Amino acid sequence: MVEFCPECSSLLRKSTMDGNSVLTCKCGYQKEIDNYIDNKEIEKKIEQTKKELEENLIIVTEEDKVSVNLKVDMICSKCEHKEAETWQEQTRSADEPSTHFFRCLKCKFTWREY
Ligand SMILES: [Zn+2]
Ligand SMILES: [Zn+2]
Repeated sequence: MVEFCPECSSLLRKSTMDGNSVLTCKCGYQKEIDNYIDNKEIEKKIEQTKKELEENLIIVTEEDKVSVNLKVDMICSKCEHKEAETWQEQTRSADEPSTHFFRCLKCKFTWREY
């Protein structure tokens, strides 16, 4: 059975102290096995929340990737690579046309065209 320290997230080690079984950590944290089940439930919930948060973070990152821009045939003026990604950004004034941005897929050089 694996348990982690709530203080420093290290793996807890099972050892015996004065005849009682305890879980100890290198940071000095220790826990008696009697409280094992209660704490385990709480820690499980914490772990679950942590996992959910991490999953959400991953989803956000993937959404960023999905919004990745259109690939176009453009010659990079820096390295002469023939593929660039493009996206548009609306300028603050509505009268002006949106600006096209291009970024070289190879060297990441970014330029724009109006
Ligand atoms: Zn610890
Ligand atoms: Zn380039």
